[in-house]
Amino acid sequence: MNEKNGYVYLIGAGPGDPGLLTVKAERVLHEVDVILYDNLVGDELIEQFDAIKIYTGKRKDLHHFEQDAINREIVRQAEMGRTVARLKGGDPYVFGRGGEEIAYLRKHGVRYEIIPGITAAHGASAYTEIPLTLRKISSSVAFCTGHPLDKIHVPDADTIVYYMVASSASDVARALIKKGKEEKTRVAIVQNATRYNQKVFAGTLGELKNRDKKVVSPALLMLGENITEFIDDYWFGKKKRVLIAGESAEKYEKGEYVIVRHPCHDPGHAERETVGKIEDVTEEMLVLLPDKYAVRNFFNYLSENSIDVRDFVNTSFCPAGVDASAELLKHGILPDLCLDACSDKDIVREMKELEISGERIVIPYEGSVNDYLLNELTVLNNSVTFLDAAIQKTFSQKESIDLDFIDEIYFSSPSCVAVFRRRYEAIPGHIAVATADTETSVEYDRLFGPGSSA
Ligand code: SAH
Repeated sequence: MNEKNGYVYLIGAGPGDPGLLTVKAERVLHEVDVILYDNLVGDELIEQFDAIKIYTGKRKDLHHFEQDAINREIVRQAEMGRTVARLKGGDPYVFGRGGEEIAYLRKHGVRYEIIPGITAAHGASAYTEIPLTLRKISSSVAFCTGHPLDKIHVPDADTIVYYMVASSASDVARALIKKGKEEKTRVAIVQNATRYNQKVFAGTLGELKNRDKKVVSPALLMLGENITEFIDDYWFGKKKRVLIAGESAEKYEKGEYVIVRHPCHDPGHAERETVGKIEDVTEEMLVLLPDKYAVRNFFNYLSENSIDVRDFVNTSFCPAGVDASAELLKHGILPDLCLDACSDKDIVREMKELEISGERIVIPYEGSVNDYLLNELTVLNNSVTFLDAAIQKTFSQKESIDLDFIDEIYFSSPSCVAVFRRRYEAIPGHIAVATADTETSVEYDRLFGPGSSA
């Protein structure tokens, strides 16, 4: 009999700012086995969860899922007995095709629940200081689609929010004027609402008509007399945008900055000779596990390659930090050597103190070779091999970060500078650069040239 004991959560991810995920959604996303997420869900938001991730959005030149295929995939995952999160931008029931997906689950007898998200209109409203209702000025709101333009609705509401305005701003303005809206009606276009690169154009419909710029997606158009005089001076625009390459530092965690994260692993790097396999499990080696993910990746590698952990008769297991040790213990292995270290720098320092030299060191890695560990441990006369063992194969950022919006970049380690350099040739002059320590700053000067950010 076909046992359908999986479970599906249809979840709204909010408009972009990862902090706008609900507490309930966050808890569930930490618990599920698999997350199917769409185009509007940011990399940064999705990266924090350990589940298997399946991207269902459109990506240039690549195969993407059609709605039917998505529906089938959700059901297939659930029928394997998995707990599935179907994660959508904004709210799943506002232009999110949530209704169709739930109908399909019902038809197939899959159990589910729905967790709402903050829809783009609410995000844009709060992050631009445009109230959706305003006493004496606006007492009704309507959410509409701006596509297709020739069928655009103009409901009788004081505030109208148009989703999916992908055409040029002037075409939208013309279509609205044609439907009877006056040229003096106030409008705002909000692009990338709640994200670091949020941009607002505000004016009248008449002004918009003469603006021949394509609207950058995702964008909303808001219409109404409640678009206030604060529109050039809203709170979110005043925050400093900091790009964090690698691990964050305490001073950035106080909420006074808009934080953009740049993951510190590099997908384009797997062919290097330092990346290898375990050829002979009986060989003497030291498996260095810099964090708990390395432990998980290591066991994933073993199971994918049908290696029995009992065959590692001459291997020392060396976790760094309590989390990695605990993870190793979960797999029934007592560490041979525990480092206190929680950073690459401390790992190297402790290994130096312990005089670890002449060893064959194997490090399971996820996405990128850690050049810092590689160089420093090689200098100590060890041979270092990275094991390509990622559970989720190389997660790469879908889009580059638009550095024009960034005020400051913080590099947490030398390898993060290197990863960043492979993606961005130069750092624009307006950006201030901060580094975690001297090694990182030396690497920065080496790769970007001293004073290149001044
Ligand atoms: N379910 C989503 C809407 C999906 S339709 C929600 O509730 O928000 C896609 C449209 O949503 C986009 O074309 C755009 O109009 C709007 N949108 C989504 N995220 C946005 C954002 N961060 N800024 C501006 N518009 C956004």
